[in-house]
Amino acid sequence: MTHSTPMAYRRLGRSGLQVSLFSFGSWVTFHNQVDTGGVREMMAAARDGGVNFFDNAEVYANGESERLMGQALAQLKWDRLDYVVSSKFFWGLDRGAPDRPRINGCDTLNRKYLMQAVDGSLQRLGLDFIDLVFCHRADPHTPVEETVWAMHDIIEKGKALYWGTSEWSADEIRSAWDIADRHHLHKPVMEQPQYHLFHRRRVEREYARLYEDTGLGLTTWSPLASGLLTGKYRKGVPANSRGALESVSFLRDGLLDARKNAAVGELEGVARDLDCTVAQLALAWVAHNPRVSTVILGASRLAQLKENLGALAVLPKLTADVLQRIDAITAGLAD
Ligand code: NDP
Repeated sequence: MTHSTPMAYRRLGRSGLQVSLFSFGSWVTFHNQVDTGGVREMMAAARDGGVNFFDNAEVYANGESERLMGQALAQLKWDRLDYVVSSKFFWGLDRGAPDRPRINGCDTLNRKYLMQAVDGSLQRLGLDFIDLVFCHRADPHTPVEETVWAMHDIIEKGKALYWGTSEWSADEIRSAWDIADRHHLHKPVMEQPQYHLFHRRRVEREYARLYEDTGLGLTTWSPLASGLLTGKYRKGVPANSRGALESVSFLRDGLLDARKNAAVGELEGVARDLDCTVAQLALAWVAHNPRVSTVILGASRLAQLKENLGALAVLPKLTADVLQRIDAITAGLAD
């Protein structure tokens, strides 16, 4: 199945910004698996498929991912109104030497780091502003108030348009939102959590009250659990797959989980009945949740991206009966 269904767009939470239901991200792939030409080709294909949001982070390939995306954007020359770019800050780029570790430039959301980090990302991306900036993880050592003021100031200076969080607890998000509300500052608009068939609790339960209370939008990550939900790990780790990369070897045990791979085998039966691939089924399942503003796709090859955008056509096929079959197969396997 190829992607002939038109892209859908959803508001990023309560904000006025519309993002494509499927977006495209660069973690692991840009620079490590895909070079300049490949990045340009995939971003162009994504745009042709209606994608308007491209996700990035300072830490991806230690800044090289932003640099590659910036080069592609410069070559593609799209109208700036037609696309949305993100970056994320927390880990920093340079941790210093073991005997002289950097003190303020990594693992932090302090004001000094954030104000400098955004300038570095702007430079690498070659942009005048970044549409969405995320606090990539929570920082228990910096007062939330300091971080909220810094994110507000980044927006006030015109360096970013909206800010949000990634993998913050519901309490942490609410406390940031409350501080912003109290001081009439720019509020966090979106969160970027992991969400897929084997990882559901945070999006479906922990954040449940935030959607109505704060208007939280979601830009969800790893919809295929790094490839597990494509079925490619059912017989071990294929060469040229993410599971074979040493740089992300921490993912390998999870990708080879026997019970989850058996469930993926059963999901393939459901996918066959719907005339789609199991990857498309898993992606459509994420998109089916109305709390999700955009599902960030990852792809190391153009063919994967095209297949994955085909999930749009599967969405209307997710009837209550199909959803029940999926729940029965994955019961007890999701955290
Ligand atoms: P997925 O879970 O969809 O994994 C993508 C990978 O799975 C691809 O790179 C490819 O890897 C494999 N794959 C994808 N489609 C297919 C297919 N049709 N057939 C076979 N293999 C396929 O998403 P990501 O983990 O890449 O996450 C998506 C984005 O989310 C990231 O790019 C990033 O922007 C964001 N993210 C954010 C995080 C955060 O903390 N905020 C954390 C992680 C991601 P391969 O070919 O190498 O096997």
